[in-house]
Amino acid sequence: MRRFGQSAAAQAILRRDSEYLLPVYARFPVVMERGEGVYLFDGSGNRYLDMMAGLGVNALGHAHPRMVQATADQAAKLVHLSPQYCTPYAGELAERLCSLSGMAGAFYSTGGSEAVEGALKLARAFGKENFHPGKMRVVSLLGSYHGRTYGSLSVTGQAKYRDDFEPGLPGVDFAPREDIEALRAMVSDDTCAILLETVLGEGGVYELSRDFLQEARRLADKHHALLILDEIQCGLGRTGKWFAYEHSGVKPDVLILGKPLGGGLPLSALLVNADLFHVLGLGKHGSTLGGSPLACRLGLEFLDVVEDERLLDRVTDTGLYLKQRLQALAASSDIAVEARGVGLLQALELTLPGRPMAEEALRQGLMLNFVQGSVMRFLPAFLLERSHVNAAMGILEPLMERAAETIQREVLVAAR
Ligand SMILES: *Cc1c(COP(=O)(O)O)cnc(C)c1O
Repeated sequence: MRRFGQSAAAQAILRRDSEYLLPVYARFPVVMERGEGVYLFDGSGNRYLDMMAGLGVNALGHAHPRMVQATADQAAKLVHLSPQYCTPYAGELAERLCSLSGMAGAFYSTGGSEAVEGALKLARAFGKENFHPGKMRVVSLLGSYHGRTYGSLSVTGQAKYRDDFEPGLPGVDFAPREDIEALRAMVSDDTCAILLETVLGEGGVYELSRDFLQEARRLADKHHALLILDEIQCGLGRTGKWFAYEHSGVKPDVLILGKPLGGGLPLSALLVNADLFHVLGLGKHGSTLGGSPLACRLGLEFLDVVEDERLLDRVTDTGLYLKQRLQALAASSDIAVEARGVGLLQALELTLPGRPMAEEALRQGLMLNFVQGSVMRFLPAFLLERSHVNAAMGILEPLMERAAETIQREVLVAAR
């Protein structure tokens, strides 16, 4: 058994963190020191297989040599400049993203939530300028996740995140996922945007069906609303294609990217179609730190590495293998509900809270992530290979067995 977080130095760091950092995260009692590929190492030299990749940010794993090189080179030249000045990489990255997605222009900010804010502002300005002042309503999905800032929180379909902070933005309706009738009933001429995660991530990993996406597209066209796809988590290769919407053929008017975009640096992008290029005109929006030369250069390097190393194929192949292993585990385990997902965005839903299992897995050298309490979500680096999946399952399967046995014992005791 590992003794993570046990060194005196690590204990001091953990103590200071709990003294000075606000308690918004359920942090694990381990201090990570460095990473290499799909592994992390703590200060005592213990190795951990990383199946969450910094919540999907570290798509190239940790310390990829080309990212290290590009960071060092660019940091020595130019890290940040006012967005009013031109630097070599912002436009080049925008051009690349547009040619990959078919969009026409980009606006950069630093995090996903901030890009969602930009999309909401754009949708409302679009409705007001082209139609009428009441065209400001947004239709989102129950169970969705779009971020923690006020606007993005207001369109997040989970009351537990919003309750303490109401009232939020007015004019938001939430349709149940896959409920085409409800979606039809909510979209009207007052709707300026339909906002969807092509694959719901934090909400439990649910891929939207082609039928549902096509209906959203049709309703948006019919009512002159924008179809905004939030692919902060599922975009940029995570599903085996550059963008998750490519699986359905439904194209958005606005596409939001984030998480892995800056190769680990804060960078998000709002991409718009040609009709929307001028909606956020001069002085209407901004972000001091958005689109820095360092972050954009790393974004370009990230795209290059994915292409050069043919990582989309790897995501598809390893993702399918991971899904098959999880489906087999789900079929044989009493504490599993189901396995689902696409590419390297996979989930195994359990019947019990996952936190104790995540802590035990960490002790055994496996980093797991749970959402919605009991959905084990896999968001590993695109570098993941079948051998890594085998190693993860070698730890996970006995843990699942033991958890199932514990439940059975408890049931027996309760029945006695
Ligand atoms: C993570 C995420 C966000 C929020 O991004 P931040 O960088 O945390 O602000 C928004 N939408 C989706 C789908 C996400 O997964």
